[in-house]
Amino acid sequence: MPAALAATAERPRTSSAPAPLGVRDLLAQGRRTFSFEFFPPKTDAGERTLWAAIRRIEALAPSFVSVTYGAGGSSRSRTVEVTKRIAAETTLRPVAHLTAVGHSVAELRHIIGQYADAGIRDVLALRGDPPGDPKGEWTPHPNGLTHAHELVTLLRRLGDFTVGVAAFPERHPRSPSWTEDIRHFAAKCHAGADYAITQMFFHAEDYLRLRDRLSAVGCLTPVIPEIMPATDFRQIRRFAELSDARFPDALAQRLEAAKDNPADGHRIGVEYATAMSERLLAEGAPGLHYITLNKSTATLEIHQNLNVSQNHPATTITE
Ligand code: FAD
Repeated sequence: MPAALAATAERPRTSSAPAPLGVRDLLAQGRRTFSFEFFPPKTDAGERTLWAAIRRIEALAPSFVSVTYGAGGSSRSRTVEVTKRIAAETTLRPVAHLTAVGHSVAELRHIIGQYADAGIRDVLALRGDPPGDPKGEWTPHPNGLTHAHELVTLLRRLGDFTVGVAAFPERHPRSPSWTEDIRHFAAKCHAGADYAITQMFFHAEDYLRLRDRLSAVGCLTPVIPEIMPATDFRQIRRFAELSDARFPDALAQRLEAAKDNPADGHRIGVEYATAMSERLLAEGAPGLHYITLNKSTATLEIHQNLNVSQNHPATTITE
């Protein structure tokens, strides 16, 4: 069926099929997860692009897909709508991102209730960034939550949700020290987080050192690395600036040289992300979470290059 048609077709789940294992179960059994991240589109054309990507990715039967939560306004209701539609019309397991930004606890409870009503049991619990200036001073809602661990606690109290949290291989930009960063991350795990997904990063060592730091304090929560294919020099520079990710000089030079040739940029970005993903899996990463930017091509190529399937034990591969 053409993707555009498939995107509008109602496809009820078959009740006789066994329920696929959830993220918590997969990780608890030491199996790898493969997942893809989307954002809520702003336009009808963006919606069509998103659904074409979702349908292509659905064919791979990933462990889950996630939908980011907007900084404010209508993008937030679109997050809820897209996530609910994925749950209702696809065979995918949606993970809803949710942030504390600008919400009272009552509002957060209402959104969580909407997800529960739609059968969504997976939430990525985030504090979020100050609206307007992501690097500005964080001010909580007067009747809201201050840090992500409180959202984890709220979700845990409200139902049997599988809860993910954010991790930062290069430390959260506002954390004064690694000690503070790791302590606050561990608080999210103690509050009941089942797993974490990292911020984007471009040096495998940063992920591995984060894992060492966590295991040094006895925090063994699975941390899934986030993979961002760096195919477009201008775009990646903007993302890296926003997230404070260190970008490898050699890769930046190659992408800059290819900036007028999108096919070359694409190839370079896919090659780099494939090599980094191979290394991470070989080092025992519990899975990979691909940022799609609502396009499937680069992430599908990386995934196909890796030639590994989910559900494989996430044991260290020795060369
Ligand atoms: P927290 O865990 O609350 O940490 C934020 C800062 O506060 C850290 O420096 C931490 O060390 C510190 N801290 C934590 N607890 C305490 C405490 N008790 N006392 C003092 N300091 C403390 N943003 C969106 O708006 N929408 C999204 O959909 C979204 N998705 C994301 C997905 C991933 C995988 C990642 C990694 C980030 C995502 N973000 C998203 C961005 C995220 O919201 C920001 O990076 C935010 O600044 C940090 O969120 P957090 O959940 O880690 O917050």
